[in-house]
Amino acid sequence: MSNKYGIPADIEAEIRKRDKVCVYCGKEMISPKSVGSRMDWATIDHLDYEPPFEYRPEQTKEDFAISCWRCNCILRGNKKLSVWLAEEFNKKDGDINAKTIAPVIKKYLRKHKL
Ligand SMILES: [Zn+2]
Repeated sequence: MSNKYGIPADIEAEIRKRDKVCVYCGKEMISPKSVGSRMDWATIDHLDYEPPFEYRPEQTKEDFAISCWRCNCILRGNKKLSVWLAEEFNKKDGDINAKTIAPVIKKYLRKHKL
């Protein structure tokens, strides 16, 4: 079993268990099936942006994270992770900074020297 991006169900279950709040802004998220703001929906973020988002066998749970719709789809979009985060960290009124990003993101940036 896998989801629409081909991510195996066991990996998806692990990242959902690990990431209880948005890995970027720290906000609590809601299921896309629930009512409420779409901005707060929980989405799966591919840390390395490589369309068309097909799962590659070498990828692990460290290559994916759960983030809110706003961070994933509105703010980041198709930007490279390190480029986007640098932009966010530089915003005067931004709510994403070194304190709000989750350990999995810091680890990813270190591992890939981003
Ligand atoms: Zn967020």
